[in-house]
Amino acid sequence: MDFEVLETDLLGRIGRLEVKGKSIETPYLFPVVHPIKQQVSTKKIREIGFNGVMTNSYIAYRRARNESVERGIHDLIGFDGLVMTDSGGYQVLEYGEVEISYREIADFQAKIGTDIAVTLDKPTGDTLSRKRAAETVRKSLVDAIKTKKEFSGCGTEWVGPVQGGLFPDLLRKSATELVKAGFRFLALGSPVQIMENYRFSELVRMISEVRNAIPFSIPLHLFGAGHPLTIALAVALGCDTFDSASYILFARQGRYMTESTVLSIENMEYLPCSCEVCIKRSISEIREMERQERTSLVALHNLYILRNELLRTKQAIAEGRLWDLLHERASSHPSLMDAFISVALGASSMVDTTRVVKQRGLFIRSSIDFLRPEIQSSRKMLERCMRVDMKDAVIVPDEATMPLPRSIYSQLSKKFDVYRMHQCLGAYPAELEFTYPFTQTVAASSYFDMEFVLSEARKLVGMGYSNVFLLERKGKEYVKKRLTSKQDLKVFSPSALVP
Ligand SMILES: [Zn+2]
Repeated sequence: MDFEVLETDLLGRIGRLEVKGKSIETPYLFPVVHPIKQQVSTKKIREIGFNGVMTNSYIAYRRARNESVERGIHDLIGFDGLVMTDSGGYQVLEYGEVEISYREIADFQAKIGTDIAVTLDKPTGDTLSRKRAAETVRKSLVDAIKTKKEFSGCGTEWVGPVQGGLFPDLLRKSATELVKAGFRFLALGSPVQIMENYRFSELVRMISEVRNAIPFSIPLHLFGAGHPLTIALAVALGCDTFDSASYILFARQGRYMTESTVLSIENMEYLPCSCEVCIKRSISEIREMERQERTSLVALHNLYILRNELLRTKQAIAEGRLWDLLHERASSHPSLMDAFISVALGASSMVDTTRVVKQRGLFIRSSIDFLRPEIQSSRKMLERCMRVDMKDAVIVPDEATMPLPRSIYSQLSKKFDVYRMHQCLGAYPAELEFTYPFTQTVAASSYFDMEFVLSEARKLVGMGYSNVFLLERKGKEYVKKRLTSKQDLKVFSPSALVP
């Protein structure tokens, strides 16, 4: 397997994953297909741009063992792209124990010619019992390591399943042990209940824990993340691939995906989409259809929505606007906003993988955007280039509020160090005005407030200036108003209060 990272933004990346000469571009979602009967044909899935699918080897093993081995999985499901198989671990959550050993299912996956296969795992689910969670981690690890040892020469790329549920230390242990054992691709088992109940902040903690514990070069798969709302979030935290049966499961319940929510076709008046399904039909035609046909069509529409969301996420990474996409998605649901806030609070870990210079300006829409990694790195850069040359400093409001003629600037700079005020980056040397991102960062004007100017003035005095002034315009005249001085700092310094 080859995995090459082409572009990064936040902790998200665009990459190329190649196995046995077949490749996919990540972030990628593997639509889950039934190994024997598909409601949306694999031909159609391929046609709309999915080069890889996921299927369940345990179901194939139970229902069509000999046929699968004879024909191979690609022929069985009629798909010549990348085929990833799950091992049956998920069935434990649904139906209790799975009666199969790691060796039986690995041998079967190798024989049917799977490209990427998950070793037999024991999902932790959302259990609150630490003892039970630790046992699932231990069992999954033992089976994964044995599978890797015994079946590494068969041509299949083995994926190590990370378990641990809601216990951070178990997740870390599970991930690091798998990397130590030589796994080059990991998959995080996320409790289904977390997704279904919109507990996105817990999902953020789980993904972050695992991503931090493994090398950057290792791709990370997230099991069952098929809600269009969570794709950008999971990608921003460093997940590269997903699998999901949601498009079909939702369709069976008459649930119609949009980029920001899931609607019930019973309550809809319109079809707000231009995919091949929606453009040719009305909502009443869809509602009146025979159930089987309706499910297939809504499932196909849902796939288009997932495809579009993947493309939108990739485009956002390419433009360096993944943060903006997250912010937009966060406005769709309060739980997602909570999750976005936890991402923002940990954004310092994203500084290294987020380009500082972008093709477009940065938008500051609310105070949460002050935590953008680009703003954090610009602030750090600023700290390094602030230097006291003159005795006094003067702060000039931003260009929009006060354009500054060259002649006035030259006059000022003979006597003062001149600073421009930025709504979120604060005071910065005026000579940097046209460098990125100072003038290219656009904030709503309400973010310019006098309190911020004053605190920046105090910071400048702290750096060593005797006086800091603010330049104001009165008619045609420019006047300086003193904001603060060393004297004020002395008076107001906490040490002055100590007797
Ligand atoms: Zn549609």
